[in-house]
Amino acid sequence: MLVNSKELFVSAQKKEYAIPAYNINNLEWIKYILQACNEDNSPVILAVTPLSIKYFGGYKIVSNLVKDLIEQLNIRIPVVLHLDHAKDFYSCKNAIDNGFTSVMIDASYSSFDENVFVTSKVVNYAKKYNVSVEAQLGSFGDDANSYYCSNADECKEFVLSTGIDSLAPVVGNAHGLYKDEDQIDFVLLADICKAVKIPLVLHGASGLDDNKLKTAIFCGVTKVNISTDLMCAWANSVRKYLENDKDVYDPRKIIIPAMDCVKEVIHRKNKIINSKNKL
Ligand SMILES: [Zn+2]
Repeated sequence: MLVNSKELFVSAQKKEYAIPAYNINNLEWIKYILQACNEDNSPVILAVTPLSIKYFGGYKIVSNLVKDLIEQLNIRIPVVLHLDHAKDFYSCKNAIDNGFTSVMIDASYSSFDENVFVTSKVVNYAKKYNVSVEAQLGSFGDDANSYYCSNADECKEFVLSTGIDSLAPVVGNAHGLYKDEDQIDFVLLADICKAVKIPLVLHGASGLDDNKLKTAIFCGVTKVNISTDLMCAWANSVRKYLENDKDVYDPRKIIIPAMDCVKEVIHRKNKIINSKNKL
């Protein structure tokens, strides 16, 4: 069942668990993420960036693939189809017009006022279609470990001015692999949570140890984004398979064990992210 994220977040916030968001890269990723989460009875957010949408072949293809796989695989859990890190209004509109149930407008590269303007425009459009909206304050640099942190008062003003459903603050988290140890500021995270009251999203949760993930959820994180951990599991498996078998040429033989490794990571993450969930 394809749903928006609002109701999932309400229930997660009440019971202090979070909803996992896994990035999808192709058909196999959709299939295995859906199956793994269905086995765990965990709601899931399938996140897809504009670049990945281009790789898939367009918004409509992604939306149809997700809907068809939910039906064909008899998936019983609530599923959110989410546009991740869209930089402009038209990407969000395109996603909404093609059946996405959640969008993230990331105008964090611009000034506060411009961010409010673009985000509000997306919220107004999304409301008509009952689509949830996530936005970001603070920004990530090009490298992991380079970022510009959010500020709790600004976050509060931003949420009140835009009417977004969830906020992705930057609190020392980063995309990709952390070069050194992550620098997550849990005090700032808890302050922002208290100030804004709406669900918080943690980007760049790959590579965080289990305790840090649990602490982030305790501090108010309701959506946990994981991508790199899955890609590393996949790449390590493919690398090993090809090294061990120099004659293999059937892609299914190479890809299926790699997807099983991805599934294992998902099961492990789900256990930490929504252990208190009783669907
Ligand atoms: Zn992100």
